[in-house]
Amino acid sequence: MTDTGDQRVAFRTCPLCEATCGLEITLEGDTVKRIRGDRDDVFSHGFICPKGSTLKQLHEDPDWLRAPVVKDGDGWREVTWDEAFAAVEEGLSRVWDAHGRNAVAVYLGNPSVHHMSGALYLRPLIQSFNTRNLCSASTVDQMPKHVSSGLLFGDPGAMPVPDLDRTDFLLMLGANPWESNGSLCTAPDFPGRVKAIQARGGTVVVVDPRRTRTADEADEHVAIRPGGDAHLLLAMIQVVLEEGLGDAGVAGTHSDGLEDLPAAVAPFTPEAVAAVTGLEADDIRRLARAFAAAPTAVAYGRIGTHTVSFGTLAAWAVDALNLVTGNLDRPGGAMFPLAAHSRRRGVQGGGRGFTTGRWTSRVRELPEVRGEIPVASLADEMEAPGEDQVRALVTVAGNPVLSTPDGGRLDAAIAALDFHVAVDPYINETSRHADVILPPPSALTRGHYDLAFYGLAVRNVANYSPPVVPDPDAMPEHEILARLALIAAGQGATADPAIVDDLLFDGLLASLQTASDSPIADRDAEEIRGAVAHHPPEERLVDLMLRAGPYGDGFGTDPDGLSLAKLEDNPHGIDLGALEPRLPGVLKTTSGRVEVLTDPIRTDLERLAASLDVSADEGTMVLIGRRHVRSNNSWMHNVDVLVKGKDRCTLQVHPDDADRLGLADGASARVTSRVGTLAAPVEVTDSIRPGVVSLPHGWGHDLPGVEMAVAGKRPGVNVNLLTDGAELDPLSGNAVLNGIPVAVTPA
Ligand code: SF4
Repeated sequence: MTDTGDQRVAFRTCPLCEATCGLEITLEGDTVKRIRGDRDDVFSHGFICPKGSTLKQLHEDPDWLRAPVVKDGDGWREVTWDEAFAAVEEGLSRVWDAHGRNAVAVYLGNPSVHHMSGALYLRPLIQSFNTRNLCSASTVDQMPKHVSSGLLFGDPGAMPVPDLDRTDFLLMLGANPWESNGSLCTAPDFPGRVKAIQARGGTVVVVDPRRTRTADEADEHVAIRPGGDAHLLLAMIQVVLEEGLGDAGVAGTHSDGLEDLPAAVAPFTPEAVAAVTGLEADDIRRLARAFAAAPTAVAYGRIGTHTVSFGTLAAWAVDALNLVTGNLDRPGGAMFPLAAHSRRRGVQGGGRGFTTGRWTSRVRELPEVRGEIPVASLADEMEAPGEDQVRALVTVAGNPVLSTPDGGRLDAAIAALDFHVAVDPYINETSRHADVILPPPSALTRGHYDLAFYGLAVRNVANYSPPVVPDPDAMPEHEILARLALIAAGQGATADPAIVDDLLFDGLLASLQTASDSPIADRDAEEIRGAVAHHPPEERLVDLMLRAGPYGDGFGTDPDGLSLAKLEDNPHGIDLGALEPRLPGVLKTTSGRVEVLTDPIRTDLERLAASLDVSADEGTMVLIGRRHVRSNNSWMHNVDVLVKGKDRCTLQVHPDDADRLGLADGASARVTSRVGTLAAPVEVTDSIRPGVVSLPHGWGHDLPGVEMAVAGKRPGVNVNLLTDGAELDPLSGNAVLNGIPVAVTPA
């Protein structure tokens, strides 16, 4: 922080999306005057998107709850924190006592991972709630990548990212970083990094049913049929293997199952997948050859690739293509970041491996994945009577009525529950049903170190931001979560949250000291505890992780190493260098090898082969999603500067379809799926593939009881009234949000 007269400048990592841009925040007193990109940030170099500066508007939003509220008749009553937690204890205990632990479901929304509180304190909360009805935004759009990484590398968190800054050929599928700035790939100014590939003579290919802004900038846009990414990738692998175009290189020496891959992909010739992908076989063959011939190349798939019924196979095929062409774990290919807070690991791979299905959901018998059931099945668990029926709900930073499939049905199911507590700043489409709302403070009042996204970053970096403005009346989110955990643990609404702080710290310290390559294995625990005792609870944990981590000072063993104090002395962050090869050390498979063809993948390849005949689908219109740089899923539509202007919640239709269906630009269309119907304004555009229509997600703010004044003026429609909870990717339980069959008529 710097001071100039009445003004001061603070530097803060933006927590709003995965890009972790550095912000320069000018304040007078505690009033934010301006936010712009931090030109000295070691990672973002001044880049921000339109959302970054709106931390000011979010901080000042009059609809952001400043105190807990309880439902009082048709309205809300502000209460003290003690009264709020007493009401939570009473409501949850009533359900637990009568119906058991599984009668309380927990849903964790996407913003949970964008703060230290969620990254650190949700684990004890989950353990205390001890419910099989745990679900999260992970099964909305990213569980396929976790499962793929779990099967390949033994670690669902080990996700290789495209080495954007060194690659010669970037193949992007279902990703639109010009709007999203990247996901499961942390790269501030992702568009600038893509343009740099082209500037140094490289090639960028975008596979997407829509000609997105990203596709517009690419060297080639491949307008694939929705749901065809896995087929395309398998065909590319088939060409590479059949024509002998690739060599798995060093990664191949750490891999098992490569010898079986040619037979496994044999059914997926370019000719065989042409119909299901809507692409010419020659074009697929040309793309495969170009990818394999590039000095370095990397495939990267994101939302559109994962939110389909073959999501896990597509995620797996991304890494398999990188592997067979020698591009896994090498500069310019797909690489594993090494975050500063991660555990040190030796060069030897191996671990306990990865399994799913340790139990199944009650109603549809869907396998758990990472301890979660699919959120698409949450309404089933609420509606179907019987033992373990869900009768109460805890939502943390989540708005599943807008963000998960078949939202209309889930909306009604949540309304019928016996009790609901929401940790949320807004009375939104989901929290309007709550009995108690516990609001977290705004981002500017919190310290920040990005525990989630430095593990997905295209360079190894570290940055810590102290709180920018104080808010003495607010309860820190980690304290809210700790008190909920203590209620669930039976310690009562008035138990001291420091109990959780200390349990977390002691558990982390013990595990770090017993790790095989720990730099603090022989150190006195009290000495270490004392060395970080001056920090607030979250920073205390982060400092411990940093100092015991791969770049850490080891509490004195490496004086030049990293610590929280060193990050505080470097407000623009510290660049820890380009990504480096990490195989086999990153592997946690039982074999200590990359396991290329596990049984779940083999079985799902048979299902994929059975999907090649698409003649029955011909003529069906299908719905896909889309996003916009000024939207952040469902939760930032109460910021006027982000929603003003032309209506963005439109149904995009190709001109040929518009003519055939009698749809006029600007008129209203009725869209009907198996589960729902809605009307939306038509936008006729040739940027979308014929036979496909598109609606953005996160809209639909016109439900009664929502108290978000700005969002209510431009409500849009909820696309999840159309998405079908019955459709899932079977390996991951991920929702199917793209390729939904719909009928479209003039409204
Ligand atoms: S791209 Fe993401 S991290 Fe960067 S300013 Fe925008 S919202 Fe913030």
